[in-house]
Amino acid sequence: MYRQAILGATVEEGSPTGAAGSCEQILRAEGLTKTFTSGTSQVTPLDGIEFSVRRGEMIAIVGPSGAGKSTLLHLLAALDTPTSGTVYFAGDSLWARTESELAEYRNRAVGFVWQRHHLLPDFTAAENVAMPLLIRGESLGGALRAASEWLGEVGLAGQSEQRAGELSGGEQQRVAIARALVNQPAVLLADEPTGDLDERSAENIFELMKRLHGAHHLTSILATHNSMLARRADRVLALEHGKLAEGGSASEESARTRVTRV
Ligand code: ADP
Repeated sequence: MYRQAILGATVEEGSPTGAAGSCEQILRAEGLTKTFTSGTSQVTPLDGIEFSVRRGEMIAIVGPSGAGKSTLLHLLAALDTPTSGTVYFAGDSLWARTESELAEYRNRAVGFVWQRHHLLPDFTAAENVAMPLLIRGESLGGALRAASEWLGEVGLAGQSEQRAGELSGGEQQRVAIARALVNQPAVLLADEPTGDLDERSAENIFELMKRLHGAHHLTSILATHNSMLARRADRVLALEHGKLAEGGSASEESARTRVTRV
């Protein structure tokens, strides 16, 4: 399977991190810079970011709104292109890939959870989760069976046939997590996955992500405002002045994005 090919022989079944004995980098950003130009202003939320992620790590990226967390996750997911610099996945630069290789990367190597779940409200929970499998050409029956199994994993075994629009916010986010993982990606990227939830649901979703992270040997990177949850990740990185700093406790002041008049 694709994921096994990526993970290779370094994954040890039963290991809580899936990376026992391995310090291998799965992702590395080198000189990663993104500038947005709008009218006469330029915003540079990422200004020569350097960081690497080891297989099996769970990393929290903290920083206030506008610091550039989403921009960074979008680049890691190859949903956007950098102004300069690059991201290496398993040693290869993302932007040295062809369009079809990039599409494969987005579909198979990474799973993405957004703050708002972006489910199709009139489709059932199982149909929503099955969607990435259908996009890659799986049969409907096989895709729905896999979707049901994943819904069981996220605690929604009884709600496969319920329409997504009828589920609670926390349940919808569980469906979104199942959808992100149904292709068995190596990396899970989550952009404020608990941002729209009340405290208790946020706690439950974080615990679920942590459990799935261990059980499926994922490498997880999540952007969050919630410093209590962030501290429970393996590593916290603060986005400040366009750079990532270790051990983040980014304040509103320190994590402000650089804005330049042009
Ligand atoms: P965060 O996720 O930390 O809230 P974002 O990555 O969404 O921050 O945004 C970082 C900065 O980049 C903000 O100033 C935002 O306005 C700007 N920005 C993000 N996307 C765009 C875009 N497509 N066009 C122009 N500016 C953008």
